[in-house]
Amino acid sequence: MNFIDSHCHIDTAKFDEDRDAMLQRAADAGITDFIVVGASGSLEQARATVAFAKGKEHFFATVGVHPHEAEKLDDSWWPKLCELAADPEVVAVGESGLDFFYDNCPKQLQTDRFVDHIKLAISLGKPIICHIRDAHDEAIAILSEHAAGKVDVIIHCFTGTPADATRYAEMGFAISFSGIVTFKGKAAQPVRDSVALVPRGQLLLETDAPFLAPVPMRGKRNEPAFLVETAKLVAQLKGIELAELAEITTNNTRRLFALTSQ
Ligand SMILES: [Zn+2]
Ligand SMILES: [Zn+2]
Repeated sequence: MNFIDSHCHIDTAKFDEDRDAMLQRAADAGITDFIVVGASGSLEQARATVAFAKGKEHFFATVGVHPHEAEKLDDSWWPKLCELAADPEVVAVGESGLDFFYDNCPKQLQTDRFVDHIKLAISLGKPIICHIRDAHDEAIAILSEHAAGKVDVIIHCFTGTPADATRYAEMGFAISFSGIVTFKGKAAQPVRDSVALVPRGQLLLETDAPFLAPVPMRGKRNEPAFLVETAKLVAQLKGIELAELAEITTNNTRRLFALTSQ
């Protein structure tokens, strides 16, 4: 049984100490491929992510600017990022989006940058990875105007309600579940309640490592091997066998990101 981690940050310094061992644990857990998201805060970081994945068969880079960093994105950075995103080995644009929970950056600026990323993804014919937190109504408005029917959209690390999931799914977007689905307590219940509503062809799994380790590893540094804990619960909530979920989500990830490795 094999899985793909559709969103992780395993190129970052958090894994410098034990990257080989971490990747071995991932292999032992059946994680075959990794979408490595380069959007953590600078052009150098995005370039480093592309360099990390380059020439490695099972690693695929994306580039973008996280909404937390949107204020730092200046006019000299953006054209270089567009160039980097056009690299044939870059499989998606993002993560970009709206994060009104942390509110690290003015809302209008996040919105403008999000639209820029969507337009870039459309022009390149690559999917867009969206980070949306406490801003689902605003995101749905932007995505329905600018993205629906024009580009493949991935709502990564889904944190919304069943109503939000339904609206995203109706627009044909993919919805990716992270370790949050396993978190005990009331806050994660709407996320659990959303799983059954996402059509099979639109379902993805991710770790978002090093963040958001699933129960029972919650609080530790997250890593791709832990994806299986999230998968077990998602399969249960979806009412299917784990092996079936593995096959469905692997196929969805390969199709959406046009992955070429076997
Ligand atoms: Zn994110
Ligand atoms: Zn991320």
